[in-house]
Amino acid sequence: MAYVYDDQNIFAKILRGEIPNNTVMETDHTLAFRDLHPQAPEHVLVIPKGAYVCHDHFALEASEAELVDFMRTAGRICADLGVQPGEGGAGYRTISNAGVNGLQEVPHYHLHILAGRPLGPLLAKA
Ligand code: AMP
Repeated sequence: MAYVYDDQNIFAKILRGEIPNNTVMETDHTLAFRDLHPQAPEHVLVIPKGAYVCHDHFALEASEAELVDFMRTAGRICADLGVQPGEGGAGYRTISNAGVNGLQEVPHYHLHILAGRPLGPLLAKA
């Protein structure tokens, strides 16, 4: 089944400059900005500039340049936030929700980077 991308989603509008965002980092293929409703002291969203719906769409169909750029950008943000466990930071969590069961609200692929407090168990009880 082909992925169907809705270009009216809020992150598409951010990428087109139609609504503002609090940018943390921007590269050729990737944009990272602060979540509007942060769930932790540090809550950054990393998105590809390409039209990908969710993680598997991006992982399966993005170019190598897009994939590398996205992952390196996410890593650089962790470094800039000072949260890398290997470098003495207190750690963080990355999350990517997909589809109905993942409770994905915005249908443009994004990686949440959450940090700045103990983040508790991975999943709440259903
Ligand atoms: P998800 O449920 O994984 O799709 O997460 C979507 C995230 O986007 C939520 O954490 C929202 O707070 C965040 N969000 C929605 N609109 C905006 C916006 N205009 N700027 C920044 N973050 C947003």
